[in-house]
Amino acid sequence: MNKVAFITGATRGIGKQIAITLSENGYDICLNYRKKNDELLNTKKEIENNGVKCFTTQGDVSNYEDCQRMVEEIIKEHGQIDVLVNNAGITKDSLILRMSKEDFNSVIDVNLTGTFNVTKNVIPYMMKARSGRIINISSVVGISGNAGQINYAASKAGVIGFTKSLAKEVASRNILVNAVAPGFIQTQMTDVLKDSVKEEIAKNIPLKKLGTAEDVAKVVKFLASEDSSYITGQVINVDGGMLM
Ligand code: NAD
Repeated sequence: MNKVAFITGATRGIGKQIAITLSENGYDICLNYRKKNDELLNTKKEIENNGVKCFTTQGDVSNYEDCQRMVEEIIKEHGQIDVLVNNAGITKDSLILRMSKEDFNSVIDVNLTGTFNVTKNVIPYMMKARSGRIINISSVVGISGNAGQINYAASKAGVIGFTKSLAKEVASRNILVNAVAPGFIQTQMTDVLKDSVKEEIAKNIPLKKLGTAEDVAKVVKFLASEDSSYITGQVINVDGGMLM
């Protein structure tokens, strides 16, 4: 039987690439999406072409009831979740003087509370199975901070604290919990930046380029695999050496 991986926010960008990479490695995939679109259907086809199953489930990770229902749907379909990747995330950047309470809260609600909502509903099944991998997508900004991103940086720092605490709680059940902290990765999230800004960013990265979704997906694949069986509570930066 194939292992089952559940990836949130998997219709595009890093989440989509994680789903494709894991499917290439024989995992059955469960994709969470917020709104149905053509990209979701194309991703599903691409995954199924790798000879594995692809189950899709609609829901907003910031809504606890949605997360409860999505996990129930997956358990009904597959009976297990071996790997959870908390990837769904948003940004609403501005300096503190201009940041509304709503923009602060919504970023925390999706990025941090969303990670709790999904994990809380998945963990009982992993505990029962006495096995599991949880991989949370944080950000280097959660470690370094970044002007204009107090909400995002706080949410991603929160994800790191969440990761380490949960790793300690569930290690005895053979559930490994780690975080991946990407630097600047070329996706629709960073497409909003002007080319000149991207060039300036690249200049300050030791590897002199932005990362790709594949760069992140390869590390997630490693953390989901047996090759990482003695690693838990860690944050792995995938950032071309930007943060040392
Ligand atoms: P993206 O905007 O391309 O993709 C984010 C995905 O999350 C989308 O599919 C979106 O629909 C989904 N999503 C957003 N809110 C959701 C919600 N409430 N419920 C369910 N799904 C929701 O961004 P990306 O660059 O692929 O980012 C993926 C993850 O990587 C995010 O957590 C992001 O913070 C993190 N990250 C990205 C970068 C980067 O440079 N791109 C850097 C560091 C961390």
